[in-house]
Amino acid sequence: MTWDAIVVGVGGLGAAAVDHLAARGLRVLGLERTTVPNALGSSHGRTRVIRKAYFEDPRYVPLLERAYPLWEALERDAGVSLLRRTGCLELGPRGNACIEGLLACAKQHGLPHEVLTADEVRARYPAFAPGPADLAVFEADGGVLQVEACTRAHADRARRRGAEIREGVRVASIDPERATVTLEDGTQLSAGHLIVTAGAWLPTLLPALPITVERQVQLWFSPPRDLGAFPAFIHFTEAGNFYGIPGEDAAAPIKVCRHHGGRATTADTLDRACDDADEVVVRGHLRRHLPRLDGARVDAAVCMYANTPDENFLVGVLPTAARTIVVGGGSGHAYKMASVLGEVAADLVTEGRSRFDLGLFSLERSGRWAR
Ligand SMILES: Cc1cc2nc3c(=O)[nH]c(=O)nc-3n(C[C@H](O)[C@H](O)[C@H](O)COP(=O)(O)OP(=O)(O)OC[C@H]3O[C@@H](n4cnc5c(N)ncnc54)[C@H](O)[C@@H]3O)c2cc1C
Repeated sequence: MTWDAIVVGVGGLGAAAVDHLAARGLRVLGLERTTVPNALGSSHGRTRVIRKAYFEDPRYVPLLERAYPLWEALERDAGVSLLRRTGCLELGPRGNACIEGLLACAKQHGLPHEVLTADEVRARYPAFAPGPADLAVFEADGGVLQVEACTRAHADRARRRGAEIREGVRVASIDPERATVTLEDGTQLSAGHLIVTAGAWLPTLLPALPITVERQVQLWFSPPRDLGAFPAFIHFTEAGNFYGIPGEDAAAPIKVCRHHGGRATTADTLDRACDDADEVVVRGHLRRHLPRLDGARVDAAVCMYANTPDENFLVGVLPTAARTIVVGGGSGHAYKMASVLGEVAADLVTEGRSRFDLGLFSLERSGRWAR
């Protein structure tokens, strides 16, 4: 059996790539060292925020505009709820670079949003205690993806479309020029194209990629009965940037985490145990800005960010190997775009190009592949 495409790593992004490649009628093999989905990489912990007004860079918006209908189509095909439109509230001091970036992005792309004063936030969302200089931007299109369910839905649909996904199979090494993988038992498999979506393990397979791995802790807190309306949120503060995600209903635990600020690690040496020290910083945020959530911690999960130096993704053909495509470097914000990044990977294989400007994600921007 020869394959048109082999996808190395069937996590959040890999499952979407397998699915979109299979939709083109290609013979696709996905290889996953653990299970699909799994809780060992970067795509677990029940939920991920999705939003369009992108403080990180307005050039993400075309991808986000495409990601939404692709998630909705996946939801219809899967027959399960994947995307909840909870709205997303982003808070921070006027003049904060993220708040200003978000407003500029919304204006540039004509994205619907509301600007709220701190008093308006307190009236509408009584759980929140904004700082005195804070304002907030509410985006009704913001919401929450059920992360494991989304990955499962992509993989299930890929299988229905004819793809083969092998779980419990670790790729020991890859030969990008020959588009060949070697498994742990020495078996070699070749394909027309390799799509490498190994997340935090990318540096072990392709050490030249500019990726560092950061440990991240997800914590869940039990809401009081009368907490009131609670959207997904991001709060840009002097103590760091924090985000939170409501559960499926008013009684379900709410996830609150710090974005970045975690210890450097590698995927194979990650400390997966969560201890009290992990809670201290988040508790500080709860006491100051979400005092009614400062109750019992009911769950915790350790996860990883695969960061690039500028925190933009790595998406494109490997500069030294025309048949090998990398999709990764999610830098803590890629899941919401998994649906469209899978489609981009399929376009790169079948068309040799993408309809999106991928300059922001160029593998060559680190200067490691000067030609
Ligand atoms: C705590 C946390 C919160 C986040 N919050 C958000 C958010 O709110 N919104 C958002 O958009 N994004 C968010 N992100 C980022 C987003 O979740 C990630 O960018 C995205 O899920 C990364 O997907 P991935 O496919 O690159 O990695 P993974 O899902 O980890 O997939 C990589 C897969 O490759 C497999 N693999 C690795 N090596 C091999 C090998 N040699 N052989 C076979 N298989 C292999 C792994 O087992 C794994 O399953 C968050 C991330 C974290 C950690």
